[in-house]
Amino acid sequence: MTLGTVGYTDADVASNQAPKSKATMKFATRAVHAGSPHDPVTGAVIEPISLSTTFAQTAVGAPVGRYEYSRSDNPNRSNFEKAVASLEGARYALAYSSGSAATANILQSLAPGSHVISVSDVYGGTHRYFTQVAAAHGIAVTFSGSIEVDIADLVRPETRLVWIETPSNPTLTLVDIRAVTEAAHAHGIKVVVDNTFLSPYVQNPLKHGADIVVHSVTKYINGHSDVVMGVAAFNDETIYARLLFLQNAIGAVPSPFDSWLAHRGLKTLHLRAKAATENATAVALALEASSQVIGVNYPGLNSHPQRYVAVKQHRNGMGGGMVSFRIKGGAEAAKRFCQKTQIFTLAESLGGVESLCEVPSSMTHAGIPRAEREAAGVFDDLVRLSCGVEDGEDLVADVMQALEEVAQEFPGKQ
Ligand SMILES: *Cc1c(COP(=O)(O)O)cnc(C)c1O
Repeated sequence: MTLGTVGYTDADVASNQAPKSKATMKFATRAVHAGSPHDPVTGAVIEPISLSTTFAQTAVGAPVGRYEYSRSDNPNRSNFEKAVASLEGARYALAYSSGSAATANILQSLAPGSHVISVSDVYGGTHRYFTQVAAAHGIAVTFSGSIEVDIADLVRPETRLVWIETPSNPTLTLVDIRAVTEAAHAHGIKVVVDNTFLSPYVQNPLKHGADIVVHSVTKYINGHSDVVMGVAAFNDETIYARLLFLQNAIGAVPSPFDSWLAHRGLKTLHLRAKAATENATAVALALEASSQVIGVNYPGLNSHPQRYVAVKQHRNGMGGGMVSFRIKGGAEAAKRFCQKTQIFTLAESLGGVESLCEVPSSMTHAGIPRAEREAAGVFDDLVRLSCGVEDGEDLVADVMQALEEVAQEFPGKQ
């Protein structure tokens, strides 16, 4: 018997697995159907939310199904994990209560005395974990501003992990994943890519050689700014066994409801990522043409210095939904711009259906010393935009009217 339109068999439902044929299906089909079996008892097309913390056993050590206790495994979490694994082209995925918890679990999988090489403009919370938490259990982290070039010089006998974030936040600098993984693998070092800024629709790091891909699900995967969650995906069975053990042992797991919401959000990821990219492209082009703007960072523009990496690494060379730009008039102009927008909301975070704007030097990146910040291109006049899925013409008009307002307040100021 076949349930539904994508060929679920009774065996698939019984094992709660997606059918094998799914791996060959296109992204949009997998987004909608992976990890989404119909309920075998009621036929419900959408999975119920499984709030039970514990699962009955028919005899000691013989649970009715595959579940025993919800921290160890839960139907909603496991369905979400299957969906993400499918979208990242991975064999396995594990979900966590936040992107930061995913990072912590990966770092905790290393033995004390291990060394990590990280890109320098890594997410602020990741930087904080690397510098203020990892050291407490004997992990040393070296940061590099040009990891493709430096990696050979930075490798030590105890180096176990390379950590990449591409595009970087907020300057949208790219890292060539293939180049870094080839250098790392030559020394037996594993490579992690934080793929939060692009989502699995735009970039699949495992296909470019990475060993682990991590996401703050809070951003594009959930996409509706109402869940904090994280996920990691990989192919290697040894990595899976170690991280599965730590996911349960550390216990930073997402709730069934959050897993269910994130899974619902993921089903439209391809639509949202496409719309956000179209909108960001229109906004970036308008900004680039404005006399009020000093420079625009967007990997979808031909003017991006690493455009060739985007073309090689991103689906159809897509730029994603994030744009940053330097506005004329300095720090005050950047702050005023974010107050003058009417559709873009002044707020941290990104990747939701609604557009957001912020000033990294005073908000997300305020904790980084000025010299370090400016060396990475994060000047006080830099504005970061997360383009949502509203109408693109409205977003461009909003940015243009805010630039105009700022120009009147700061006439002639550079
Ligand atoms: C938000 C974010 C994180 C951290 O995720 P949380 O879900 O907030 O813990 C990690 N990396 C990047 C790139 C992020 O944007």
